[in-house]
Amino acid sequence: MTLAGADVPSSARMVLATHNRKKLVELLAILRTQPGLDTLPAGAVVTAGDLGAAEPVEDGLTFAENALIKARALAAASGLPAVADDSGLSVDVLGGAPGIFSARWAGRHGDDVANLGLLLAQLGDVRDEHRGAAFVCAAALVTPDGREEVAMGEMPGVLVREPRGAHGFGYDPILVPAEQEPGPEGRPGTRTSAELTPQEKNTISHRGKALRTLAPMIAEAL
Ligand code: IMP
Repeated sequence: MTLAGADVPSSARMVLATHNRKKLVELLAILRTQPGLDTLPAGAVVTAGDLGAAEPVEDGLTFAENALIKARALAAASGLPAVADDSGLSVDVLGGAPGIFSARWAGRHGDDVANLGLLLAQLGDVRDEHRGAAFVCAAALVTPDGREEVAMGEMPGVLVREPRGAHGFGYDPILVPAEQEPGPEGRPGTRTSAELTPQEKNTISHRGKALRTLAPMIAEAL
C-alpha cells in the first residue's frame, strides 16, 4: 500500500493524525493504557508524519469538525482506521477563544511562546476570579468503511499570570487544572498543567478523557 509516495508498513493497524510530536507522546501514552490497545505490537500504530501524509485544511468551525476532517482524510489515504484529535484552550471571558484557533492565536501556527504571550497580554486586566478557562479536546475515529465516532473531553481550570513548569506544551504553563490532587493540608492544588507529571496530566486531561471514551471503539475497529 502506498500513500503520497510512502509505504504504509504491513505491521500498521491504525494511523494517528498528528504531526505535533508532544501531542503524539500524550496520545500514545493514553491509548497504551486502554484494554485492547495495551497489547498492540510495536509498529501497529503509525502517524500521519511517518506516512508523509499531507495535512488537510482544517476549515471546520468546531473541534469535532476539525478532528473528523483530519481522521477522514487519513483513513481514506491509508486504508486504515484513523484517529485524530483537535484541541485548544477555551477562555471564559473571551467567549471561548482562542478555541479552534489556539495553535495560531498569535499568527504563526505552532508558535507556543508567542501564542501564550499574546493571550496573557490580552488578559492582563482580567481579575483573578474571572480567569476561568478549559482545555477542550475532540477525538475522532474514522474507519475506511465509513464508521465515524467522536468523543469530547474537557480540563477546566484557571489561568495564572506568569507561566510555570517545564512539562507538556502549548498553554500548559498557564492553566491550573481544577481536578488536580489537593495541595498541603487539603488546600486546592495550585500547580499548572506544565507542573504536573505527564501521568497526572493524562489522568485528568481533556485528551485523556476524550481518548478513553473513544478507546473501546478504536479497539473494536482494529
Ligand atoms: P491542534 O494541534 O490543531 O489540535 O491545536 C492544538 C493547540 O491547542 C496547541 O497548539 C496548543 O496551543 C493548544 N493545546 C491543545 N491541547 C493542549 C494541551 O494539552 N496543553 C497545552 N496546550 C494545548
